[in-house]
Parts: sequence; C-alpha cells; structure tokens
Amino acid sequence: MTKLAVMGAMEEEIEPLLEHFNDVKITEFAKNKYYEVTYNGLEIVIAYSKIGKVFASLTASTLIEKFGCDTLLFSGVAGGINPELKIGDLIIANKLCQHDLDITAFGHPHGFVPGGAVFVETSIELNSIAKEVASENGLKVIEGVIATGDQFVHSNERKEFIESTFKADALEMEGASVAVVCDALNVPCFILRAISDTADMDAGFDFDEFLKSSAKNSAEYLIKIINKLQQ
Ligand code: SAH
Repeated sequence: MTKLAVMGAMEEEIEPLLEHFNDVKITEFAKNKYYEVTYNGLEIVIAYSKIGKVFASLTASTLIEKFGCDTLLFSGVAGGINPELKIGDLIIANKLCQHDLDITAFGHPHGFVPGGAVFVETSIELNSIAKEVASENGLKVIEGVIATGDQFVHSNERKEFIESTFKADALEMEGASVAVVCDALNVPCFILRAISDTADMDAGFDFDEFLKSSAKNSAEYLIKIINKLQQ
C-alpha cells in the first residue's frame, strides 16, 4: 500500500475522519472536494461522494485513477437487516450486491447483468486485519452481506425482499458500486458501516437521530484500522 483512499457518502461520515488529521490540502475535481493528508508518513486521500451508486462510483474511480490510490476503505452508516445488528453496531462486508439491479424480465437473477456477477467480494486480507483490530479493542463486529441500491429503504416489505433474495445483513446506497469499481481496477476494497436505523417504518426518524453517532463509531474504528495498516 502506498496511497490510501478513504471514502464516505455524506459529509457527516467523513467529518469525524477529517477531524483526526492535520494540514489537509483540498483539491476540487469533478464537482467534488478531495482532502489530501499525510499521516505518519502515509499518503491518504479522503472524500465523500454524495449519496447513491453513481456518485460513489465516480468518486471511487477518481480516487484510484486520478489520485493514484491503491487501497480503498469506506466508512459510513447503513440500515440493519440482521436482527443481531442494533443501532450503532458495526458490520464489515465480505460481499455486496446491487438489490435494485433488475433484468429479471429476461430470466436473469436479481442483481445480475451479463458480464457482471450478483455478488462482488471485498479484500479478505483487509477484512481479517479489521477483525484483528476489533478483537484487540474489544469491539463487536459482524462480517456479512451488504445490499446496495438507489433507495432509502424504510419498509418491512422491501427489507424482507432484500433479506430473502440476497441473504443480506445490512443495506445502504453506495457500497456495492464502490466494490465493483475496486474489483474492476484491481484495488483491495474494505466496506465498513455502523447501523443508523433498521430500514423499517421508523428508519427516517432513526437515521436523523443516529447518523452522527453511528458515523462516528464507524470512523473511530476505521482510524484504528488505518493505524494497524501502518504497523
Ligand atoms: N437524510 C439524508 C439522506 C440520507 S440517505 C438527506 O436528506 O440528505 C441514507 C444514507 O445512509 C445513504 O448514504 C445510505 O448509504 C445510508 N443508509 C442508512 N440507512 C439506510 C437505509 N435504511 N436505506 C438505504 N440507505 C441507508
């Protein structure tokens, strides 16, 4: 690893990360800001993409192709599906899918398009480092499937569809697109989320209430992981 990309979707998700670093150099590109820092000798580029798969793909591609990042870590919040995941809890994705990608009219499974795959995997090595960091710090973290789509899910019906179709543990709006970009460009990818809501009727309310505290949980864990990567 020579240059690390650190991504979130919303400003609130990268704020607690930026607070951790000094001497941030801001570069504007493609209607977005990229925050460059040097941290204990390691170059890091931080950005929030804005919400959704398109913006997230653009930012991930930019971090890799324009800024030359060779490892990508994502930190943010998600809706919980697995009942073991309570608000504030951490999940790392070992694989992700696009729950709203649908050409089933032609006999293909949900989430599949020709040339692609239903699931995209993240870096086994980064995930195992993250689990090591969690156990060293007494943090509980679940490793599982994250489903991504361009929808804020706030209904049991949609949540149950995603759970039964993809066996997903959590859902959000960017992770799979970032993982697809990293997979295509051969860059190790790590997707971390802390639960902000449980994607049910109360999700909008819970999200507003817990966005900041959950984003902070995710960011604090991510910083511990970055520290470990440097050892
Ligand atoms: N309140 C915001 C919109 C938030 S959209 C606004 O008005 O601007 C939700 C964001 O958090 C997305 O980036 C997504 O990745 C994540 N997320 C958290 N809970 C989610 C849920 N229930 N469904 C989909 N995405 C969720």
